[in-house]
Amino acid sequence: MKQKKIQCKIPLQTIQEGIHEFTFIIEKTFIEQYTIEEVLDANITVVVTFRKQTQLHHVNYSITGTAVVPCDRCLDDCTVTLEMSDSLVLKIAASDNEFADSEDVYYIQSDDTEVDISNLIYESIILALPLQKIHPEGMCNKEIEKYIRSEEQKKNTTIDSRWESLQNMFDN
Ligand SMILES: [Zn+2]
Repeated sequence: MKQKKIQCKIPLQTIQEGIHEFTFIIEKTFIEQYTIEEVLDANITVVVTFRKQTQLHHVNYSITGTAVVPCDRCLDDCTVTLEMSDSLVLKIAASDNEFADSEDVYYIQSDDTEVDISNLIYESIILALPLQKIHPEGMCNKEIEKYIRSEEQKKNTTIDSRWESLQNMFDN
């Protein structure tokens, strides 16, 4: 039997108008089910502040935690910190024509009982990943580090010898 996909849902009908807070914990199972590229593991807390009104609802959310990704330099597992927050508006669509989602307005149906924000969380985690996923200085895999160093040295020596022959040309 296929395991049911983890979903992060906010109830719409069973809660009163006003402010509600929801917390979702994102771990390996979520990462695996949504196949977040490069991310191997995660320990992320998503806090959603949901303000329910009659025609539209405000969603403020923050993402904090850590993710394990391969290091850009040595490819070993590397833990990076994620931190971001954003907001959006959920609006009840007046007619079917109004279903054109714009950047931060999402349309819902008046009879929707809940809203699934899993995709939003998925996209936000990707956005929150740092551009440079790299171990702190000196924390990379020692063997790989040694190899990278020797390759860099080789490159430098080739450049040096090229300079020498160029210099010789001028000297002559
Ligand atoms: Zn590294």
